[in-house]
Amino acid sequence: MCQDCGCSLNGPAQRLAPLHRPETQTLPLLQSLHLQNQAVADDIRNHFAQHQVLAINLMSSPGAGKTTLLEATLAQLASEFRCAVLEGDLETDLDAQRIRAQGVPALQITTGNACHLDAQMIKDALEQLDLANLDIVFIENVGNLVCPASFDLGQHANVILLSVTEGDDKPAKYPVMFRAADLVLISKIDLLPYLGDFDPARAEAFLRRLASQAPVMPLSARQGEGLETWFGWLRDQRRSVQTTLAAQSA
Ligand code: MG
Ligand code: ZN
Repeated sequence: MCQDCGCSLNGPAQRLAPLHRPETQTLPLLQSLHLQNQAVADDIRNHFAQHQVLAINLMSSPGAGKTTLLEATLAQLASEFRCAVLEGDLETDLDAQRIRAQGVPALQITTGNACHLDAQMIKDALEQLDLANLDIVFIENVGNLVCPASFDLGQHANVILLSVTEGDDKPAKYPVMFRAADLVLISKIDLLPYLGDFDPARAEAFLRRLASQAPVMPLSARQGEGLETWFGWLRDQRRSVQTTLAAQSA
C-alpha cells in the first residue's frame, strides 16, 4: 500500500525474504528510512518538551472511532487545555472539518499512498502551529493496525483503540501495534449488548500475553461511559510532561 514503509516494496510474501537472504537490499533501505524517521521524531519530541506540550498518537484500524473519541474529548477538555489536532488520512479533510466544527484548530495531513504518518509529515504540519500557545496535540494516525506502529512521531504516548465491533483477538494478531501501546481503549462498549462475541477480558488477556502492562479502559464516546477515566489519564500525562521539564531545568 505505501511507498516508503516497505509494504509495497515487493509485496508481503517477499518482504519476509530479507530476514533469510541477507543479499537483498530491502532491509538496509528500510533501516535507513527508520533511522531518518527517528532523528526527525527526536527533534519533534524536544520541540514539544520545550513548550510543555503533551503529544498523543492515536492509532487503530479504520472505523474504530478515533475521530468520534476526539470530538467527545475536545467537547470536555478544550476549555481546560489548549488543544490542536493533526489528522492523518489517505484522502479528504473530512475529519479535520469535524474537529474544526468544535472550534479547535485541526490540520489535515493527506498521505496519498502512504498508510501511516511519518515524523517528517508531523514536523511539516507543526510549522503551522504555535506550540507556545498549546497544551495538548492529538495526532490521529491513518487507520491501520500495521505500519503506523513502526514510525515514531515524537509523541509522548501511543493510545490504541480497539472497538468491540472488531475481534477481541486483535492484540494477538497485531502484536507489533499492541506492544507499542501505552494505553488501550476498548471503544464503542455501548454496542456490547448487541454483539455477544466480543469479550473485553479476553482482549485484555491477549494483550497481557504480549507482556504489555498498558492500562485498558473500556469506553463509549457516544454515550459517555468511561470517558472520565480517559480524561483523568490525559490530565496525568500532561502533568507528567510538565513535571519532567521542571525536573530537567532545576
Ligand atoms: Mg478518523
Ligand atoms: Zn505503511
